[in-house]
Amino acid sequence: MVLFPKTKRVYCTKCKSHQIHKVSLAKKSKESGKAQGRRRYDRKQKGHGGQTKPKLKKKIKQTKKLQVKLTCSKCRKNRINKISRTKRLEISSEKKTKSVTQW
Ligand SMILES: [Zn+2]
Repeated sequence: MVLFPKTKRVYCTKCKSHQIHKVSLAKKSKESGKAQGRRRYDRKQKGHGGQTKPKLKKKIKQTKKLQVKLTCSKCRKNRINKISRTKRLEISSEKKTKSVTQW
């Protein structure tokens, strides 16, 4: 699990300085339908012959490569931050407190 704060102070390329950024989960953008792979697949699927490429039935990966969208509070420029593979991502306002074990 990855914990993320709701706001983060990071460098903005447009403002050319550190600004407070809003953190949100980046969603997958809509497929354009014109990409080479899409065109090739559609062409192959055309006409008779049924399914030409194997459909994945089994879930292989247990985790997802999630991304976080950072929006500048001053100029509203978006920027995407990649994070490592995780099952769960949490964006919380609370600060993570370190638990200290005492012997
Ligand atoms: Zn900015």
